[in-house]
This record gives sequence, structure tokens and C-alpha cells, in this order.
Amino acid sequence: MNYVFTIAENQLEELVDYYQEDETLVKDPYIYKVFATSKLRVTVYKTLKVMLQGEDALQDYQMWSDIFGFTADVGVTEATKAKGFAKPRYYQTAAVGSDEVGTGDYFGPVVVTAAYVKPTDISALEALGVRDSKKMTDETIQSIGADLIKNYEHVTLVLDNPKYNELIAQGYNLNKIKAYLHNHALAKCLKQISGKTEYIIVDQFCSKELYFEYVKDVPYVVKDITFLERAESEHLAVALASVISRYTFLEKMRALSESVKINLPFGAGPAVDIIGEIVAKKHGIETLNLLAKTHFKNHERILERCHK
Ligand code: MN
Repeated sequence: MNYVFTIAENQLEELVDYYQEDETLVKDPYIYKVFATSKLRVTVYKTLKVMLQGEDALQDYQMWSDIFGFTADVGVTEATKAKGFAKPRYYQTAAVGSDEVGTGDYFGPVVVTAAYVKPTDISALEALGVRDSKKMTDETIQSIGADLIKNYEHVTLVLDNPKYNELIAQGYNLNKIKAYLHNHALAKCLKQISGKTEYIIVDQFCSKELYFEYVKDVPYVVKDITFLERAESEHLAVALASVISRYTFLEKMRALSESVKINLPFGAGPAVDIIGEIVAKKHGIETLNLLAKTHFKNHERILERCHK
């Protein structure tokens, strides 16, 4: 079944942002972008019509109807089916899930959290609005983050910038760093929790084979992992992990900003280059090693700007 809806111009960025990792190049004068996974194909037309196809189409259609506020046009049976079957396997199980943030930001650390959620936690977490942190505002995350940290079993690891830069210099790639952090957070979390765990879920960032290749030399490797795409919507443990990670990242960014007395921007856009130059000129270029991921393209550009 195909689902089609029309978005406003100012909603385009959010939609594209959400799917960007799955972009597929398609040459068609009427098509703006196509995103594809094994379970979903998203076609964005230049007319701002969006078509969803595949197994996950209905689920995403309903998500966008929530976010953008249009009425999802699905028959009653389809809608009921979606509620019961959209997350059939994992949603109602006890699981430890892990997710990371900060990997796309020039400034700030990489944060990975593993969190434990059991079926009796679901309604409270849903009521708090916990879902994929990318779909929540930072204000909401800041308002509930401290309570989540207090009330739910989890382990958060922060890889600060000097250590991150050192690992990159040693030849680690980003996915290997992520695999190490996920493995470590999961291991610690599994050791801590009191209840039973049916699944260990990782928001997939590379193939299963590569993941285990990356961690093969680690003394303790967590096995039996279920790797899921967009795992934040498959299980609240992953959603919770993403929210706690983002909350922690925001706190760290605040502290780093405080240390240089300037608000450090997120992401890797033009604002980052401008602020990077200001920081480097005020505190010295080497300060960036304490605040930023120096293998980003932004870093080269900042150095160039400073030498002009
Ligand atoms: Mn993720």
C-alpha cells in the first residue's frame, strides 16, 4: 500500500533530515529526493508530495501525521492493524537498548547510552513523550532528562574530544569507536540491571558482521544483539537511550560553551566554522582539540580562516 501526503515548504528540511542517511540517487525531473531501506521507500516530489511505500510505510505515515498535524487517511482496519502490528516483535518486551549522539557535531563529545525498559515502564515513558530524540525538541529533553536519568536503569558513556581525537589519530574509524562504546555501555548496563532481559537492541549503524569485527579484541563482547534500523521506534529502551544521550550531550555542550564563554553551535554547518574561528583566535587553535572533532572538514576550514 502507498501513502501520499503533501508537506509545506518549511517541513521539508525536517523530513529530509530524518531520512537523510538512506538517500538514494534517482534521476527524474519530477523527483526532489528518494530515500530507501529494505522496508521503506520515500519519494519526495518537487511538488512537495511525499509517497511512502513498503512494510514500514503505514507506521511512518502515521508518525508524520502526528508531527505535521495532517489527518492520516487510513481505513479503520488499517489503522487498527498498524497499532497492533507496527511494532510486533519487540515493543512489548523487556530490553536493553543503546543509541549514540554527537557523531555529526563538530563541537562536543560522542555520548552513548544503554538503557533498560520493561513492559511496565512503557505507559509512563509514552506519557512523558519519550521517542526518538531527533523527533523531540531540546527543551522537552531538558525538561524530562534529569528525571529519566534518576528513574530508569541505564549506563551513559561520554567520549570527550581529546580522547576521541586521539583514537582517530590512532586510525580508528567512527564506526569502530561507536561499536566499542555500544559494547561497553551494554555490558555495564546488563551487569547492573535487576530484571530479566529478552532482547538487546542496538540502533544499527553498520552491518552485524562489521560490528563484531570491530569489537573482536575487546575482553568482554556482548553477544545476541538484535540490530534494528530506526530502533528508536522499535523499542522504548533505544528511544530512552537516545533521549538520555542527547540530554547528556546538551549538558556537556553547555559546559564546553561556558569554558570558552561562547555558545557553541550544533552540527557541522557554516555557523560552526564562524564560531570555530572565533574560539581559535581568542583561545588558540589547540583549544579546538578540547572542544571539537578535529578530523571534520570544518576543522580545515577553520584553520584556513585563521591563517588568512
Ligand atoms: Mn541512532
